[in-house]
Amino acid sequence: MGGYHVAAMTKLTVAIMVHGLEQALADAARAAERGADLVEFRLDQFTDDADAAVDLVMRSPVPCIATIRPTWEGGLYDGDESARQALMQLLAEATRPPVYIDLELAAYQRQAITPPGDGLILSSHDFQGRPRDLLQRVAAMAEAPECRVMKLAWAARSLRDNIEAFELIAAAHKPTIALCMGEFGQPSRILAKKFGALLTFASLEPGEGTAPGQVSVEQMKRLYRWDAITPGTKVYGVMGWPVGHSMSPAIHNAGFDATGFDGVYLPMPIPPQYEHFKATMISWLDYKPLDFRGASVTIPHKQNLLRFVAEQGGTIEPLAARIGAANTLTVANDGSLHASNTDYAAALDAVCDAMDITREDLAGRRVGVIGAGGAARAIVAAFAHYGATIVVYNRTPGKAEELAANFNGHIGKVVAAPLDHLPKSCCEIFINCTPIGMHPNVDASPIATWPACADESTVVFDTIYNPIETKLLREAAQRGCTTISGLEMFTRQAAAQFQQWTSQPAPMDVFDQVVRERLGHTGR
Ligand code: NAP
Repeated sequence: MGGYHVAAMTKLTVAIMVHGLEQALADAARAAERGADLVEFRLDQFTDDADAAVDLVMRSPVPCIATIRPTWEGGLYDGDESARQALMQLLAEATRPPVYIDLELAAYQRQAITPPGDGLILSSHDFQGRPRDLLQRVAAMAEAPECRVMKLAWAARSLRDNIEAFELIAAAHKPTIALCMGEFGQPSRILAKKFGALLTFASLEPGEGTAPGQVSVEQMKRLYRWDAITPGTKVYGVMGWPVGHSMSPAIHNAGFDATGFDGVYLPMPIPPQYEHFKATMISWLDYKPLDFRGASVTIPHKQNLLRFVAEQGGTIEPLAARIGAANTLTVANDGSLHASNTDYAAALDAVCDAMDITREDLAGRRVGVIGAGGAARAIVAAFAHYGATIVVYNRTPGKAEELAANFNGHIGKVVAAPLDHLPKSCCEIFINCTPIGMHPNVDASPIATWPACADESTVVFDTIYNPIETKLLREAAQRGCTTISGLEMFTRQAAAQFQQWTSQPAPMDVFDQVVRERLGHTGR
């Protein structure tokens, strides 16, 4: 990477919308407490009392940026332009001035104004998308002699936009801020430090930022490992649609922290169609400075991952190919791709460990699988592979029959049965692969009438992990059955991904604790 790189660390900057002097000072103090290096005072609605505005920048507990963003650039200031610039000038001349004053490139170009102070940020924002003249804007900022810092912000339409933001930072000859707004743009905010941006913006509280997609300062520090990010940090994430509520960033980032691995794990939303998946993958993999090294892939992209890796000449774990879905992408040092499925192995091992048997010992055991969707498919394939005899009970019998036909004879035996045959079942292991009993419907259970054979010798595994103890598991425990929560499967599939990416065992206690905290549980 060529271009300009600030010697100092990228500054974590909390943007504060100013409504009053004391509120803004209190917010700035809280931002500093939470680890902000800078604050940006957005004075858009605090321009009537110039003395108070000057007082604010002089009393700020941390170095500050002063910005009065006009409505025509997405801000809230709708007053006179000359009054706005007069106030900026006054702020610049304060005995303790802001370190930077932000002025829009359009304002700078429109009038022959004297830019305030010697810490001028020239900025450009587009809340609709990438401006067509983005590169001309960059050139104009680069050539403006008073411009100390270039700031480019635009709404990302896909994850691909982040790459251009990174390229702008890497190529710039002045300190640069390049940020993509919105959910797709979060990587540009979190990875600003990896690419040596002058600063990134964060909000004081989650969901409260001054621009779409801002992450809170605490999330930046704790969840996304801000302090640990280096130019060499490897990038991972969860690819799906939607991914906003995924627990995977919390789990994997905590794992990276606990093991000291130089990685960061991000949400990576990709709309459902294969074309989106492929285009995003290609752009992220092709941009080598990103160090994109792996992803958890979830609904609706588990099939897309297999197709993509096959098209790119990568390798596919045989059982993942047989299941028809992969949940893990691993990118090797030489850039080659590998797709695997850690869900089925997690389910197998959770059951084997609970029974204190090996996978091979599953041969001939009778397993009742409830449901015939994606999770059931992975579990049926895996247990059949080790020779179990499986009955698939499903609401829609046709789907159970299709699933059985697919895997019957693949070492084990698989048959289908309607859901109402369940009470007559004589299986040793029952696995729920439906969402029945999942939060918020916690009073539901997929087994309304228990088979008489369910006793101390029976294992009941619910793939649901929210709640950790479902009604199914509670009732199974009352009958003396051995129970396994979906939490086991969830943490084990994540642990297998972690191991593939880092070549280190995952800190299981940390994973378990993070999931329990997220689900509002403490202790076992
Ligand atoms: P899916 O593909 O949508 O399949 C859902 C299955 O549940 C279908 O067979 C469906 O029956 C059945 N079902 C849904 N609602 C039902 C109802 N009210 N009554 C009877 N049957 C019903 O979903 P999936 O991806 O397989 O996921 C299923 C569950 O597995 C999830 O809810 C999740 O809790 C769990 N899971 C856990 C993990 C983990 O790591 N612990 C991982 C993956 C999945 P029809 O065929 O009749 O529609």
